[in-house]
Amino acid sequence: MPATPAIPGYFLQFASDNTAGVCPEALAAFNAANAGFVSSYGEDATTREVCDHIRELFATDCDIYFSFNGTAANSLALAAMCQSYQGVICAESAHVETDECGAPEFFSNGAKLLLAPQREGKLDAAGVEHLITRRRDLHYPRPKVVTLTQTTEMGTLYSADEINTITRLAKQHGLRTHMDGARFANAVAALDVAPADITWRAGIDVLCFGGTKMGLPIGEAIVFFDRALGEEFSWRCKQAGQLASKMRFLSAPWLAMLENQTWLRHAGHANQMAQRLARHLEKLPSLEFMPTQANGVFVNLPAEAMVRLRAKGWSFHTFIGGVARFMCSWASTEAAVDHLAADIAASL
Ligand SMILES: *Cc1c(COP(=O)(O)O)cnc(C)c1O
Repeated sequence: MPATPAIPGYFLQFASDNTAGVCPEALAAFNAANAGFVSSYGEDATTREVCDHIRELFATDCDIYFSFNGTAANSLALAAMCQSYQGVICAESAHVETDECGAPEFFSNGAKLLLAPQREGKLDAAGVEHLITRRRDLHYPRPKVVTLTQTTEMGTLYSADEINTITRLAKQHGLRTHMDGARFANAVAALDVAPADITWRAGIDVLCFGGTKMGLPIGEAIVFFDRALGEEFSWRCKQAGQLASKMRFLSAPWLAMLENQTWLRHAGHANQMAQRLARHLEKLPSLEFMPTQANGVFVNLPAEAMVRLRAKGWSFHTFIGGVARFMCSWASTEAAVDHLAADIAASL
């Protein structure tokens, strides 16, 4: 669908936060990393420095690895956390279940995803406990990991207490805990907490810390708070084709993001743009929302309104159940948000 000529295409883009480009700080670092010859496969000073920076950020001695994308990060992390005959409990709406083409099962050689009901994208203790306890016989995969997504696929947030409740339950039953943090930056910015408080201090063993959606060109960090789980992870990454030989180009942009809180400034901006859109839409009659807690707005637009919006060139996703999803990024502008809100109002 051609965009209105007066409006550049990027202006109309709310399909995902990964439709944005690379933020200026990360791009400058990427270019700066191009100077001269540097040791490969992560044996370089920049990669060591960014790992130290991440340890400082989380105030703990964790192990850090990098992958090209989030599917690999999640799948390889989960594979490192369970055996092929075990199970991984996730929300039925989780990215690992709905958007990774079976990669967690593939890389774990068959561990089964066990789907728990979700409310507003979140697991609750009752649903998790039911999955852990309903079968103990050997004909059913043994639950070994609980994975939760922060920010969730529905744009909502777990509080530190909510995470704690689930991880405590998991640990009581001998399960490990994983967090899909593709939008971890948005969560930290929105909750205004120390990163440690919603990860290892809240019982998370392994975090997939998303870089792409917060403004990097490419790359996610896999952070092992339980370092024993990361043993031999380098080999797993290499076998899966996820070890970058020119690692400096993955790591240097991370360093730029983590310096001077740049990651939180960009994530905070994305969150504010979503809030701005939500404030506009709340004024319209009869629209139902998910709570807008981070950088996504989920609203139940009528089907005809969506058709009209798309005819004007606006790009956004429709979720199961017909909910329209508008994602904001570091690059979203107030002008674009205001224009979108006006066009949504006109479409109703
Ligand atoms: C985007 C995203 C990922 C990573 O997806 P890739 O396309 O593999 O990088 C993982 N989890 C969630 C919740 C996401 O939104």
